[in-house]
Amino acid sequence: MRFLCDEMLKRLGQWLRVAGHDVTIMPDGTPDALILQRAEEEDRWLLSSDRRLAAHRLARGRLVLLDCQGIDACAHELARRLDIDWLYRPFTRCMRCNTPLRDATPHEMQDVPAGVRAQVCDVRFCPSCRQLYWNGSHVDDMRRRLQQWNARRQGPA
Ligand SMILES: [Zn+2]
Repeated sequence: MRFLCDEMLKRLGQWLRVAGHDVTIMPDGTPDALILQRAEEEDRWLLSSDRRLAAHRLARGRLVLLDCQGIDACAHELARRLDIDWLYRPFTRCMRCNTPLRDATPHEMQDVPAGVRAQVCDVRFCPSCRQLYWNGSHVDDMRRRLQQWNARRQGPA
């Protein structure tokens, strides 16, 4: 499943990327018409909390209107509507720019702080924005959160 989020659901979009899903996040202030057009062109589910979008012809069969406060509530609501797998391919995609990550080369790993480099062996690299990712306590926390969201998804209604 591919998604397009408007600016109001930016954070949810980033979490979808963490789970490995392909997400376009529209820049702040993008006009409704452009948001709808882009979702149509790229054949993506459009995630928004903007009710005005629902009236538009292009929104039909594509818009998922989310009425939620906070990331946990939004994650649950989205999973209820589209059966999202929150453990699809965790940590395989850049949460900043959506590009698939690859293993960092030894040269790229030189930008990882030496103290970290001594402790982690698996460093991932975004070839687009050059962000480096490695395992650490924050990654464990994020993985736990994805697991919680999936557990609730698969549990009794
Ligand atoms: Zn990136």
